[in-house]
Amino acid sequence: MGHCKLQDDAYHYGVKKSDLKGEMKQFRLEATNPFYERDMTKCILCGKCVRVCSEINGAGVIDFAY
Ligand code: SF4
Repeated sequence: MGHCKLQDDAYHYGVKKSDLKGEMKQFRLEATNPFYERDMTKCILCGKCVRVCSEINGAGVIDFAY
Protein backbone atom coordinates (compact mmCIF):
# COMPACT_ATOMS: atom_id res chain seq x y z
CA MET A 1 0.00 0.00 0.00
CA GLY A 2 1.35 3.41 -0.97
CA HIS A 3 1.12 6.82 0.63
CA CYS A 4 -1.43 8.11 -1.90
CA LYS A 5 -3.79 6.98 -4.67
CA LEU A 6 -1.15 7.54 -7.34
CA GLN A 7 1.38 5.37 -5.51
CA ASP A 8 -1.29 2.71 -4.91
CA ASP A 9 -2.03 2.67 -8.65
CA ALA A 10 1.68 2.53 -9.52
CA TYR A 11 2.12 -0.51 -7.26
CA HIS A 12 -1.05 -2.11 -8.63
CA TYR A 13 0.12 -1.75 -12.25
CA GLY A 14 3.72 -2.75 -11.47
CA VAL A 15 5.31 0.59 -12.36
CA LYS A 16 8.95 0.40 -11.31
CA LYS A 17 10.41 3.56 -12.87
CA SER A 18 9.41 6.62 -14.82
CA ASP A 19 10.46 7.41 -18.37
CA LEU A 20 9.90 11.09 -17.66
CA LYS A 21 13.01 13.22 -17.62
CA GLY A 22 13.45 16.61 -16.04
CA GLU A 23 14.39 18.32 -12.87
CA MET A 24 12.74 17.53 -9.56
CA LYS A 25 11.77 20.62 -7.61
CA GLN A 26 11.96 20.75 -3.85
CA PHE A 27 9.26 22.39 -1.76
CA ARG A 28 8.72 22.56 1.97
CA LEU A 29 5.87 20.48 3.40
CA GLU A 30 2.90 22.72 4.21
CA ALA A 31 1.32 21.43 7.41
CA THR A 32 -0.40 24.51 8.82
CA ASN A 33 -3.92 23.33 7.99
CA PRO A 34 -5.41 20.98 10.61
CA PHE A 35 -7.21 18.95 7.91
CA TYR A 36 -4.48 18.20 5.39
CA GLU A 37 -0.78 18.41 4.58
CA ARG A 38 0.37 19.70 1.21
CA ASP A 39 3.59 18.27 -0.24
CA MET A 40 4.17 19.96 -3.60
CA THR A 41 7.18 17.73 -4.34
CA LYS A 42 4.57 15.05 -5.07
CA CYS A 43 2.27 17.22 -7.20
CA ILE A 44 1.52 15.79 -10.64
CA LEU A 45 -0.63 18.78 -11.65
CA CYS A 46 -3.79 16.70 -11.81
CA GLY A 47 -5.92 19.69 -10.74
CA LYS A 48 -7.99 17.76 -8.19
CA CYS A 49 -7.21 20.26 -5.42
CA VAL A 50 -8.22 23.18 -7.65
CA ARG A 51 -11.54 21.53 -8.53
CA VAL A 52 -12.32 20.53 -4.94
CA CYS A 53 -11.60 24.05 -3.74
CA SER A 54 -13.87 25.49 -6.41
CA GLU A 55 -16.62 22.90 -6.85
CA ILE A 56 -16.91 21.30 -3.41
CA ASN A 57 -15.75 24.02 -1.04
CA GLY A 58 -17.01 26.85 -3.23
CA ALA A 59 -14.03 29.00 -2.37
CA GLY A 60 -12.00 28.96 -5.59
CA VAL A 61 -8.96 30.35 -3.84
CA ILE A 62 -6.31 28.09 -5.36
CA ASP A 63 -5.33 27.68 -9.00
CA PHE A 64 -2.36 26.87 -11.19
CA ALA A 65 0.27 29.53 -11.76
CA TYR A 66 3.53 29.69 -13.67
S1 SF4 B 1 -2.74 19.24 -8.57
FE1 SF4 B 1 -3.41 19.31 -6.42
S2 SF4 B 1 -4.46 17.36 -6.05
FE2 SF4 B 1 -3.27 17.13 -7.95
S3 SF4 B 1 -1.34 16.23 -7.29
FE3 SF4 B 1 -1.04 18.45 -7.33
S4 SF4 B 1 -1.50 19.16 -5.24
FE4 SF4 B 1 -2.31 17.07 -5.44
